[in-house]
Amino acid sequence: MINQNWWFTTLLIRQFKYCPPLNKDIKCDVLIVGGGFSGMSAAAEFLQKGFKVVLIDRNIVGGSSSGRSAGFLTPDSELELHQLVRRYGPDAAREIWAMPCRGIDRIVQAIKKNNIECGLLQQDSLFLGIGKGGMEAVASERECRESVGFTDQQVYDEKELKGVLGAEGFTAGIRYTGTYGVNPLACLQGLKDILIDNGMQVFESTEMLRLDDHTAYTHGGSITADHIIIAVDKLKSSLSPLAGEIFHAQTFMSVTEPLTDKELNVLFPGGKQMQCWDSKLVYSYFRLTGDNRLLLGGGSPLSTFLPSAYNGPFIIKKVIKEFKGRFPHLRDLSFIQFWPGLIDTTRDLLPIIVKPPGQPHLQFILGIVGLPWATFAGSFAARNILGDAVEDYAKYYPYFSNRRHFSLPSGLAKIVGKPVLFSLANSWAKFYQVDTHRKPVAMKDEF
Ligand SMILES: Cc1cc2nc3c(=O)[nH]c(=O)nc-3n(C[C@H](O)[C@H](O)[C@H](O)COP(=O)(O)OP(=O)(O)OC[C@H]3O[C@@H](n4cnc5c(N)ncnc54)[C@H](O)[C@@H]3O)c2cc1C
Repeated sequence: MINQNWWFTTLLIRQFKYCPPLNKDIKCDVLIVGGGFSGMSAAAEFLQKGFKVVLIDRNIVGGSSSGRSAGFLTPDSELELHQLVRRYGPDAAREIWAMPCRGIDRIVQAIKKNNIECGLLQQDSLFLGIGKGGMEAVASERECRESVGFTDQQVYDEKELKGVLGAEGFTAGIRYTGTYGVNPLACLQGLKDILIDNGMQVFESTEMLRLDDHTAYTHGGSITADHIIIAVDKLKSSLSPLAGEIFHAQTFMSVTEPLTDKELNVLFPGGKQMQCWDSKLVYSYFRLTGDNRLLLGGGSPLSTFLPSAYNGPFIIKKVIKEFKGRFPHLRDLSFIQFWPGLIDTTRDLLPIIVKPPGQPHLQFILGIVGLPWATFAGSFAARNILGDAVEDYAKYYPYFSNRRHFSLPSGLAKIVGKPVLFSLANSWAKFYQVDTHRKPVAMKDEF
């Protein structure tokens, strides 16, 4: 098993437009820094309105979190619905859940409209309970889906699960529709080509090193813009003090050779493939790719909160071993590649979308967990600048402001360290936090 991102491997047989680094000083209406799903989604909004848009990425478009991800397109990324209902109540939870759902629609429509070849598959989501706690989580998810008015869920007990998934040891499951799987890197590179054809300028291998008022400086030149959206990951504190608000969770991915028909039948005996994840705090997740490979991801509490990336195969080998323990008939599957990834997030697992005080031309999109969330957030930030998102903005902004209430202050990191602060805040946000009694802070000056 070699350490190599599978989606990068798939690029070797495809030709996307070459976007050399910036080598001069230029001007534009809108500069987007970061070509993940957030940045690309924002760029598409501005292009549609006829703006002159430049996008820079220090890697290739999609080359960081987005293009390392498992490509699950589900509204359920880090926070399940029952966790949102506990924290905010059913009405707000429905409102929040609608954001990633809109992100999914936006991605799927863009892929279909532009015929982007990126292994798009309709795959229902299946959340799998482990043990008694997992059974309770499934029951709670069902209750909450009903309380917010969703009707497309199907619940399985341990025995019924065997009809749809060839696994041992899951005690319950809840399945719902409207979710997809995609090769996220091919999707973004395909979208890049289309946006370039529509007038966007893209500079890859172009890192923003410094920002001064309306101008971003890179190694080879500068870009001066009326508006700047910063949709980067691993934000450096030299670029903004907001870096202190961003935390990282490490996960690992692996991929197999294509499965045989017999293996596919063992995995999904009901004949319908799904994207699945379990109820552990550091969960495992799996789905099939467009060419029937099994993508398996997961981690360990030991490595999730490490301050920097661990590149060895130790953790993913344990995830694979556990998977094979649950799917004994698939124990001969051959995993060929693995890769690690650091997911950017915040202390309460919701994004930060904010204009720094006194800099109305700047908008940061940070700490996003989930491709659908990122897609919604990019569009939200752009539409705010365009003046098209007034209603959305009033509704959603209190969830995104960096001045919202966090259960633990970011300054605590100086005493206990960032990993400890994040592991405490993360578990609190997922399992105990309640926000319903809090009033949103007044944020008029922020937008
Ligand atoms: C291993 C892994 C698996 C995941 N699986 C899933 C999944 O299945 N489903 C899901 O919904 N989510 C998944 N996620 C989370 C998801 O990938 C992220 O939440 C999402 O990609 C965030 O998108 P983004 O556009 O905000 O950030 P990114 O995709 O990270 O984009 C930011 C871009 O900014 C660029 N950049 C950074 N600094 C600079 C700079 N100074 N100058 C210029 N460019 C810069 C980077 O190169 C990068 O391309 C996974 C994440 C990982 C790591």
